[in-house]
Amino acid sequence: MTSKSAHKQKVAVIGAGILGLSVARQLAQKGAEVTIFERDYIGAGTSSTTFAWVNSNGKSPDSYHQLNATAIDEHVELQREGQVGAPWFHQTGTYEWATGSELQHRLNERTENLTTLGYPVEKLSRADVQARLPEIRIDPQADELWFFPTEAILYPSILLAKLWADAKSSGAVLRNHSDIVSLNETEHGVTLTLADGEQWTGDQVVLATGRWSRELMANIGLDLALIDANKADRVACGFLAYTAPLPLQLDANLITPELNVRPDGGGRLLLQALDLDLYVNPSLLPSTDGFIAKEMLRRLRRIFANVDHAKIERIAIGQRARPADGLPAMGYVTPDKRVYLMVTHSGMTLGPLLGRLCAEEIIDKTRSDLLADFAPDRLIGKKAEDFPQISSVFYPSAQ
Ligand SMILES: Cc1cc2nc3c(=O)[nH]c(=O)nc-3n(C[C@H](O)[C@H](O)[C@H](O)COP(=O)(O)OP(=O)(O)OC[C@H]3O[C@@H](n4cnc5c(N)ncnc54)[C@H](O)[C@@H]3O)c2cc1C
Repeated sequence: MTSKSAHKQKVAVIGAGILGLSVARQLAQKGAEVTIFERDYIGAGTSSTTFAWVNSNGKSPDSYHQLNATAIDEHVELQREGQVGAPWFHQTGTYEWATGSELQHRLNERTENLTTLGYPVEKLSRADVQARLPEIRIDPQADELWFFPTEAILYPSILLAKLWADAKSSGAVLRNHSDIVSLNETEHGVTLTLADGEQWTGDQVVLATGRWSRELMANIGLDLALIDANKADRVACGFLAYTAPLPLQLDANLITPELNVRPDGGGRLLLQALDLDLYVNPSLLPSTDGFIAKEMLRRLRRIFANVDHAKIERIAIGQRARPADGLPAMGYVTPDKRVYLMVTHSGMTLGPLLGRLCAEEIIDKTRSDLLADFAPDRLIGKKAEDFPQISSVFYPSAQ
């Protein structure tokens, strides 16, 4: 599909994470001349250190839920278009339980709310869960077990490779190791300057620079209320622990109060314990046999049989790209509509959808109603401290 306009729009995308590659793919498929500038290499940022659970579970307000729910469908469409059973997306659902009266009450409330919103939710018996996950040790204190069948596991590196392959086959160019240090908008165009002094001039620029988005926004004189991902703070960062291969039959996400677990390919598991993020410090990577690793393994053994010999092969610290109110920022940020900002948490869920919506706005000049609540204005000229502290990250399903 190409643009109706005779002029072939020349667009730069800064950043080759899931957002940048999703929008570059869509722009190139719509006939734009696209150059992606990436400071390091594809997936160098948050898109490679993520739990990558595709969901719209516990996401409020309703407009944000709707955006995420639509984004799940977008992944399904992308998978169908690529190949059935595409290796980057597995819609195998999520199992979740809570323990203790307060957490159970909150989970029940959430499932009721999701059901009202039309989001698929199933209550399962212990026998059902045990049959599907033979090694599971369901917490005896968990009164109810829930399943969210439309949720999915995503393999980020495979998806990034697919998005880039599609963008490239539609003519997009990738400039790795190209650090953009300034941008300058005039009524006739926008000029980017690279660290080595080289310049690029075109019609539009998309800032898909994730947790670094404040830097280039500051360069055009705009403050952006984004949390500081370099802070030793569990809203900003989280541990991700990767096990050595294990003989477990787990093909879905598992969310429990003490540990979130998902398969990570080749028999490995990816573990996350949000309460342990209290100890996170992005400049101090824990060792694979230190306290964090041991505690995650202890919890894993409580939840699964056959993992006595489990080992942590690697621990990473994921640093979030998170607007200060926790919601996406999507839209033009300059008067001549040449600089478009896209930055969000939950980008693994939202990426392909936001990529399409951004490309529609730039090429077709139509803005989806889905974005009505997510214009960047609310964050511009403000600092993160101007917003109430985000607590939803501690909610198991706020990924
Ligand atoms: C611990 C953790 C768990 C998460 N779990 C989930 C989850 O379960 N589900 C979910 O949907 N989301 C999850 N997320 C969020 C999701 O991973 C992110 O929202 C997403 O990866 C952000 O993608 P991005 O493309 O915006 O940013 P990034 O992947 O960071 O890409 C930005 C790119 O821009 C480049 N760049 C920056 N500045 C410049 C410049 N000046 N010039 C050139 N290049 C530049 C960087 O090098 C980088 O490659 C999680 C995040 C974390 C940290």
